[in-house]
Amino acid sequence: MPHKAPYSFLWLQAASCGGCTAAALGSDPSFLDRATPNIKSLAHQAFSEECGVEFSQILSAVLEGGLVLDGLLIEGAILNGPNGTGKFQMAPGLGQPMNRLIADLAAKVLHVVAVGSCAAFGGVVAGLGSRTQAVGLQYDGGEAGGLLGAGWRSRSGLPVVNVAGCAPHPGWIVETLLLLADGALAPDDLDSFQRPSFFADHLAHHGCNRNEYYEYKASAHDPSQQGCLMENMGCRATQAPGDCNRRRWNGAGSCTNAGFACIACTVPGFASSADPFLETPKLAGIPVGLPVDMPKAWFVALAALSKSATPSRVRRNATESRIAVPPDPRSRKPK
Ligand code: SF4
Ligand code: SF4
Repeated sequence: MPHKAPYSFLWLQAASCGGCTAAALGSDPSFLDRATPNIKSLAHQAFSEECGVEFSQILSAVLEGGLVLDGLLIEGAILNGPNGTGKFQMAPGLGQPMNRLIADLAAKVLHVVAVGSCAAFGGVVAGLGSRTQAVGLQYDGGEAGGLLGAGWRSRSGLPVVNVAGCAPHPGWIVETLLLLADGALAPDDLDSFQRPSFFADHLAHHGCNRNEYYEYKASAHDPSQQGCLMENMGCRATQAPGDCNRRRWNGAGSCTNAGFACIACTVPGFASSADPFLETPKLAGIPVGLPVDMPKAWFVALAALSKSATPSRVRRNATESRIAVPPDPRSRKPK
């Protein structure tokens, strides 16, 4: 059911670098209220006018039931340390651990949204063997659980909505809020890791401007080169959910467009991998991480075939930083 009043939300920062807030501020339409009158930011921990006592009064009012809140947005991992107390991060002005505050607020609201892979899965903060006991809201890495527990559901019946990404695309954050405000996000609209399927049903590989190079396995050896980044440069976009190459950041950019291999930031545990970023792990010269739903034998056979058919233009351009050989439209008439 769509909301009659503007959908109100509160944004809290747990153990976060602030990158998700920075991403959200780049959204168009704005996730602040002017361009999107049906959603209303009640308070944001980093940039609200209300701070200090006023901010903690808002939190208390929600907890006591005097202030109705629709969405609770959490950015950053939840710190359960030391020894499960949560005292590594105390809530602003309330004298209690952040993990308790978040759990108490979560019980009061219609929807809880994890903004970014830290809030969703523990992300970078959980890293390799975190001493801070960092977890996500409803996941600990790829394992269901986290702060709230696997079976937890908000008042609306939805589990935590995981807008994964490091940072998530601004459009994913705003579109999720607009769908929630419209009552148009049901449990079936989330994938197996509770990511909204409107972006998670794509792969970051889709729409990459290096796709012609990928087709022919014409590969870059250096980030400044134009070829596909999968074979040598560690690109995991064929395994990473996300439409980040179809809806570019700020209307223009994407990781791979900028020469930076996809590190699969939407996937649980991406920051805990023992494999280095920006380098393709291989066994006998064959990348270990193959595209999802592609049998290894087929990949090897097709890669060999496509490499043998690579046009010289594509092979040459793959290792150049600019187009060295343009396509020649005069060589053949379009049919
Ligand atoms: S660089 Fe990555 S995203 Fe782009 S075509 Fe290659 S594998 Fe796909
Ligand atoms: S291209 Fe990969 S690393 Fe970049 S935002 Fe998309 S999923 Fe994350």
